[in-house]
Amino acid sequence: MRIFLFVIVLCLLAAGGAWIHAGGAPGPVIEISGPEAVGQIGDVTVAVVSPGGDLDRLQIALVQGERTTPLFDSPVGAVAGAPGAGADAGAGIEREGEDRVRVTRSIGKRAIPSLVGGNAEIQVTAVRPVLFGLRQATSTLAATVEVRLIPPQVAVLSLHHFINQGGSEVVVYRVNPPDSDSGVRVGEIEYPGFPASGAGIPAADPGLRVAFFALLPSQDVAVPIQVFARDPIGNEGTGSFDFRVFPKQFRDSRIEVDDRFLGRVVPAILQNTPEFVVENPSDLVASYLRINRDLRKLNNEKISSLARETSPEILWRGPFKQLLNTAVEAGFADQRTYVYQGRDIDHQVHLGFDLASTMAAPVVAANRGRVVFAGWLGIYGNCVIVDHGMGLQSLYAHLSSIGVQESQIVEQGAELGRSGATGLAGGDHLHFTMLLGGNAVTPIDWWSKQWVEDRVLRKFIEAGAPADGGSAAMERVDPEASAQRLADRVAPR
Ligand SMILES: [Zn+2]
Repeated sequence: MRIFLFVIVLCLLAAGGAWIHAGGAPGPVIEISGPEAVGQIGDVTVAVVSPGGDLDRLQIALVQGERTTPLFDSPVGAVAGAPGAGADAGAGIEREGEDRVRVTRSIGKRAIPSLVGGNAEIQVTAVRPVLFGLRQATSTLAATVEVRLIPPQVAVLSLHHFINQGGSEVVVYRVNPPDSDSGVRVGEIEYPGFPASGAGIPAADPGLRVAFFALLPSQDVAVPIQVFARDPIGNEGTGSFDFRVFPKQFRDSRIEVDDRFLGRVVPAILQNTPEFVVENPSDLVASYLRINRDLRKLNNEKISSLARETSPEILWRGPFKQLLNTAVEAGFADQRTYVYQGRDIDHQVHLGFDLASTMAAPVVAANRGRVVFAGWLGIYGNCVIVDHGMGLQSLYAHLSSIGVQESQIVEQGAELGRSGATGLAGGDHLHFTMLLGGNAVTPIDWWSKQWVEDRVLRKFIEAGAPADGGSAAMERVDPEASAQRLADRVAPR
């Protein structure tokens, strides 16, 4: 009997000891990570380490002044979708290994509209079960995050902007802070700006930028055009500038497609583009339509992607040169209807110039640049794309042979290859276009010495670039003559 009592007392003592010991057990280990500052966007990540990943409760809140915004509050005893977990219990928790769980929450102003500029505190409480769930161990941790809601500032410095529909323009602007992403937005399309030093403007001001942009033939002439600047935490500032848009009338043309043409181009394109599969290659008309629509689209996406490889420095010098002794067979942005046996079978916009001279005529670089593509490009056949910097590129298509390699620097007039009829071409000719940000723009602007001087170089000189040639793009601009031509143009007619 005595022994029995003794054993009971011993058990009680042991249980009491275990209870007291459990009360001193450490709580879960909490880590808070995230950016130093948040703005319109920004995430915080909370990681918690507890044996088996077991947590009775996890609370995360953002506290700013008097206001507390719960970010996460859940009993998460059975975390990460373990059986028995309620539908919402632990939602958004990720398990990372045996003992670690993680929660990520958006804490930018878009997610928490009440957020104001200043500091905020992330407060975390985590509770884990100890002693078979009879007791609990709790930890808390807080971290401060800066809330920055002031957008970057952006202001245009250049004057007199005239935009031909389908054509190019350029602005010189200042952005602050200088490391913001910035450029010109035309409707939905963004054209990045580049440090002005890349245009030969002395780099005294690190926030000075140059951005070329375009109004595409497919865009409305009333589309909004503005400069923008965005910081990494989603704050965006915009600025307006004076500009005038000149609408253009694009021509309609009809292209006769016959069996002889289809028999020549369709099998050749399919053979050279093995990744493009058509349902029935012997159905020439159906295959041709797939090529003219879908392969054209894929090829244009490839061209767009090459815009990212542009140099931040202007590589061209002076006006661009049109291929010598060529007749313009088709204009820029012609609205083409394709006719087969009297039927309209397709419609496409022809984004380029067709220049014809003699068979296998030398095709030369319109200006100085770096070759970013030299090879087969579907409907464009053998094709060369030359990068001229700051998003501007030129494209030469349907070549019979290519004489340059990718990443090679070419001077103006250097032979790129020979003209031909590869790809979707009715006969030997050069399909030529200028590209800005990967989209076709009319070369007519760039072929004009007057346009290049008034529209582009004048703005660089006004922003501080030396006018006497030398570095970027300057052949020799007479600022007075340029100003006079500008005055003539601005004057009402
Ligand atoms: Zn063409």
